[in-house]
Amino acid sequence: SSKESGRNRYNFYSASMNQKALMRMETEAGLRNALERREFYVEFQPIMNAADSTVVAAEALVRWNHPTRGRIPPDQFIDLAEETGLVVPLGEWVLRTVCSRIKTWSDAGLPLIRFSVNVSSRQIERQDFAEIVRNALRESGANSAQLEIELTESCLIRHSDTNISDLFGLKEWGVSFAIDDFGTGYSSLGYIKTLPIDHIKIDRSFVRDISTDFHDQAIVEAIIAMSQRLGIRNIAEGVETIEQVRFLQERGCEEIQGYYFHRPLSAEALEELLRAQEN
Ligand code: C2E
Ligand code: MG
Ligand code: MG
Ligand code: MG
Repeated sequence: SSKESGRNRYNFYSASMNQKALMRMETEAGLRNALERREFYVEFQPIMNAADSTVVAAEALVRWNHPTRGRIPPDQFIDLAEETGLVVPLGEWVLRTVCSRIKTWSDAGLPLIRFSVNVSSRQIERQDFAEIVRNALRESGANSAQLEIELTESCLIRHSDTNISDLFGLKEWGVSFAIDDFGTGYSSLGYIKTLPIDHIKIDRSFVRDISTDFHDQAIVEAIIAMSQRLGIRNIAEGVETIEQVRFLQERGCEEIQGYYFHRPLSAEALEELLRAQEN
């Protein structure tokens, strides 16, 4: 009967909700030990100069190699790491890992490209965040001009002026700043007027249908034009096809990141790519 199938459906849903809650608890418990068990690692996605397709930067993207579930993408654990505060030690670990790579690769004579690190709101709300970055730079001996911090728009509006000006004090050290997922956050454009932003990353949701959707074309053209007038370099994210590349090149997009050129790479694969570029 329909009553019975209704009950079955209810049981099914409640079972799957329990499953979800269990999964979440298991993920959270696992996250707590993952750092000391060395289950995290960092991949690097190359960012290309749009004009000549050379690698000018790489974005550091964290991955979790779970002992039983295998490789878990950040979309499945970063939110939880933020809620639990675990993103603070995790973020510091990513930062230190990237700084030590910057140092070894520059010592090895590889091209001095920029390395960007995603930073979460929870990290910035800590008063000692800028200090953590300075320590990571100092202790690794990394060239601070090679380090970029990626922030989201919501991250900027959520914080006090003191925190933000402290954070941007890192500019004096040569650290640069990018706005990630530009155009998707809740924000006025006000911060662009007042903060020394170096790069705007055009969110991939605007890039995806750029060859066919005239709304997306208008938005991307406007972001490129605005960033150029303001002297902020622009980066298009999520570029997967040659049509997207051509559209962006013709509109004066400066840097391109996406599967069309490279997926996120292991440190070894990036090193090989940089070596090949040098010769
Ligand atoms: P994000 O910072 O916007 O990073 C770009 C994401 O887009 C990456 O996903 C990358 O693999 C993916 N991507 C790049 N090119 C393409 C493309 O052509 N097509 C498609 N479909 N996707 C592309 P990933 O690595 O899964 O990271 C997801 C998000 O997790 C990141 O988005 C970032 O918000 C967060 N995240 C990653 N690493 C860290 C970290 O160390 N700390 C913090 N706080 N967040 C991180
Ligand atoms: Mg990013
Ligand atoms: Mg992004
Ligand atoms: Mg994102």
